[in-house]
Amino acid sequence: MTDSVLIVGAGVAGLHAATECANAGARAIVVEQGPVVGGKLAAAMTKALAIGDRAEGDSVPLFEALAGNENIEIITLANLESIEGRPGNFTVSIRERARFVTDACTRCKLCRAACPVVRPNEFDAGLTYRKAIYAPMAETLPGEWVIDIQSCLNTPPNYLPCHRCVDVCADDAIHFDLPLDTVHRHVVGAVILAPGFRIDDNASFTELGYGAHPDILMSAELQRLLESPGPTGGYASKPSNEDYPESVLLVLDDMSHFALYIVASQVHQLLEQDVETVAVLVLSQLTQERENARVQELADKADVKISTGTMFKVDPTPENSLSVSYEDFSTNRLVKETYDMVVLCSDVAPPSGLADLAQTTGIELAESGYIAISGANGDGVSTSKPGVFVAGCASGAMTIKDSIASARTAAGDALANLNQTLLRPDYVPQQAPQELAPGPAPAAASADIPEHEKRARIEQLLYALLNKADA
Ligand code: SF4
Ligand code: SF4
Repeated sequence: MTDSVLIVGAGVAGLHAATECANAGARAIVVEQGPVVGGKLAAAMTKALAIGDRAEGDSVPLFEALAGNENIEIITLANLESIEGRPGNFTVSIRERARFVTDACTRCKLCRAACPVVRPNEFDAGLTYRKAIYAPMAETLPGEWVIDIQSCLNTPPNYLPCHRCVDVCADDAIHFDLPLDTVHRHVVGAVILAPGFRIDDNASFTELGYGAHPDILMSAELQRLLESPGPTGGYASKPSNEDYPESVLLVLDDMSHFALYIVASQVHQLLEQDVETVAVLVLSQLTQERENARVQELADKADVKISTGTMFKVDPTPENSLSVSYEDFSTNRLVKETYDMVVLCSDVAPPSGLADLAQTTGIELAESGYIAISGANGDGVSTSKPGVFVAGCASGAMTIKDSIASARTAAGDALANLNQTLLRPDYVPQQAPQELAPGPAPAAASADIPEHEKRARIEQLLYALLNKADA
């Protein structure tokens, strides 16, 4: 038996599992297929003040603490290639692709201006642009920049027609002669799979107006705007002209648990930012009168307008606002309203590459495409293969709080497969400061409602809709 756990995926669940294992004295080897850790919450992990309340009161692992934890090894641009053995003694093989930028990089940014290749920055939901050599965000772990070799004009090691970045790098950090692949082999006692989730393709929302105007956003794009540090410093300004919106409509097409959870969270964040009018349009009918009345009552209390309707259409106006029309189910009339920003709420899907990961690890997937949970020990994190556990959204969409809870459970189960005499729980984790980012003053219309009460009301409101979705 060994003292090590392999964790596949470095989003909030994977990193939380890693810190749990490391703090218990185990060695956590984290494999991330992207160039930096943090997943969709990476911006929340730069410092405690960037967290806001998006982790629902639970602290997320911070880059500083992760980088300083000697029990955690992070391998980025890497995939699990094979796994052999049994619980307590798996031999795993990990293939790491070249970064082409070494840790001599000082993040001076000189290469950014020199590189001629421009691509949308996936880490900003495509709202900003990056070069072929880039850092996805202002602060990342690891800190050195990376070359997206698929976009780069060079094809190492033989075809290197472009040297612009190498020529300007005074720190000699860029090397196209590094090995293209490095294979790492480790013996681990257990594996935790935390590859996260995939957001619905934006293209499937063109019928609802996506792409017709920059201020018609997907919920993932709004989330990136709302994050500090994000492209706008954490404020939901309009992509078209950076003006602050006075009115925002969130359109909910699919009433899944996750979509409702995202809407509840974003409504709260927009109200916190003093957006005067926040409205939700549900594109399906609430058939029971009593339920409808209850939803409207809660909506009034929370300062949020909720409508249900169909035949939704959004058109840009010459004044750079958005004219929205729909048939209101409550009146059976065509309604026309104007908003500064319209947000289309997307749902989530199993992460890309999950079928390959399932094949590599020998686990079963459910019909939904997510990882199937074995009911054998009732912990909610065991897969069909003993010694392999799942954390976070890879077994189905869940909230951040539930992701963190599942990571804790998976880490506990994984630790039970290790040689306890080899653990070194003498490592003292760094204490992250607990203070949260101060938000703007509450909206005048709801200034008399305490913050916690306002949030509770919004959640109540949306969970009322959620119950409807279950019916
Ligand atoms: S790779 Fe070189 S030029 Fe680019 S940011 Fe790093 S040190 Fe600066
Ligand atoms: S080699 Fe050229 S294209 Fe490639 S990252 Fe450097 S500057 Fe950009």
